Order: sequence, then structure tokens, then C-alpha cells
Amino acid sequence: MNTPTPFRPVVLCLSGHDPSGGAGLQADIEALLAQGCHAAPTVTALTVQNTVNVSDFRVLDREWVLAQANAVLNDMPVAAVKLGMLGNLEMVDTVVEILQAHPHLPLVCDPVLRAGGGGSLGKDEVGYAMREKLLPLARIVTPNLPEARILAELPEGTADECAEKLMPLCQNLLITGGHGTEQEVHNRLYCQDGSEHTFTCARLPGEYHGSGCTLASTLAGRLALGEDLVSAVENALDYTWRTLRDAERPGQGQYVPRRL
Ligand code: PLP
Repeated sequence: MNTPTPFRPVVLCLSGHDPSGGAGLQADIEALLAQGCHAAPTVTALTVQNTVNVSDFRVLDREWVLAQANAVLNDMPVAAVKLGMLGNLEMVDTVVEILQAHPHLPLVCDPVLRAGGGGSLGKDEVGYAMREKLLPLARIVTPNLPEARILAELPEGTADECAEKLMPLCQNLLITGGHGTEQEVHNRLYCQDGSEHTFTCARLPGEYHGSGCTLASTLAGRLALGEDLVSAVENALDYTWRTLRDAERPGQGQYVPRRL
């Protein structure tokens, strides 16, 4: 009898498609390949965008997303789930429905509301619905500071102030500092056990498209590989920083992380 071939851990990605290839599902696939994982990409939304900005997006019907995700979940031993762009309130409920049927799976939630260039990928009310319904389900939530401010409804809040408001809803929270202006980027991790960690890196010049997607999917891959949370965060931040250091500028706008 043939022994089954070993396979890489499967990460189910529920994210939007970015035709420029910088962010969204392509970022998830590339980042997961680089960790030694297999990405199973379920499309939640289509976007019209390039490295300059977003001009439109369309969220898929609930039935299509349920059918895609369930086709994978019924077939493969999914080891972790990564959530990216959801786009509207119905899609928040749709992914909650998928996740409630698989409560044991570690979930990384990237609360995407804006593209790197600032264009909207969902109204703030989508963020508030994620806050109430998805943050409690996630092993870790990975907003950047502007997203954390929207979720916490603190337009001028610091990372610590946002975390104070959000942590009662989260298991673990990583607020990234890449969107600031200081020379050093401070990424703050707030853990369920009350511990806090700061990971600092040098700010790189340039604007990037897909850095948040790269980070969240890398983190999901590392959790799927069995790494503990704090070291998965540290390694995911290091990997993401390297993809930005090596980024390319194939278009007229932001740099695209080089993930492979
Ligand atoms: N998801 C999709 C489909 C996107 O198009 C984008 C940005 O354009 C994002 C997520 C978020 O991008 P970033 O990783 O730059 O925050």
C-alpha cells in the first residue's frame, strides 16, 4: 500500500482579490508559500485597483463564499484561517457562520477597511460589526494603528488607548505602527494573559501595498505550523519587514512587497 505523501499545513484565506497582485489573496498565497504552507484562497470580494488607489469593489454573494469555503473545509484538514477584506455587513455574518462551524481553528483577523493608498474597502460600520462579532472569535487581530482607531472609535488614540478599549473583546491584539512617521516602527502586542510586547524595527522609506495582508497571512501560516503566538508574531513581523526592504515598484504608486 502507498504511504500518503506528507503535505504542508493548509491555511484557508477569506480575502479580497487585488488585480495589481500587491495585496489581497495574492499576498496571502505568496506569503504562505514562503512559510512552507498551502494557501486555500476563498474570494470574498473583487476590487478594481492598482498600486495608486482603489476605484471600486464588489462583494461576492453569501452563497458563493459559503460554497467556496465549505468545499475546502470538507476536503482538506485546514490548520488555520486568515480573514482579510470582507467589504460589507453581510460578509461579516457569512464568515461568522463559517467559523462557528469550526471553532477549534486558529483564526487571524486582519480588519481591512482601507487600501494602502487610503481608498475605502468597507465602511466603518463593517469595522464595528467585525469588532462585535469577529474579534472575540480570533486568536489574534492585526489592525494597523489607523484601523485600531476606527475599531476603538478613538480618532486620535494611541495604540495603548485603543488596546485598552479593544482588549476586553480580543484574545490577542497586534497593533502595527507602520503608518506613523517616527524613525522607528513600534508594533505592540497585547496578550490574553495581560503581557505586552513591543517589537521595534527601522522605518523603511516608501509606501507599501499589501504589507498588512503579508503580515496577517504569515502569522496564520506560522500558527498553522504550530508555532507559539509570541514567536509567530515576532517571526511574521521580521519576514514582513524583509519583504518591504526588498519591495519592488512595478507601477506608478506604492511599492509591492517581495515575498518570494
Ligand atoms: N485586501 C485587499 C483585497 C486589498 O485590495 C487591500 C489593499 O489594497 C488590502 C486587503 C489591504 O492592504 P494592506 O495590506 O496594504 O493593508
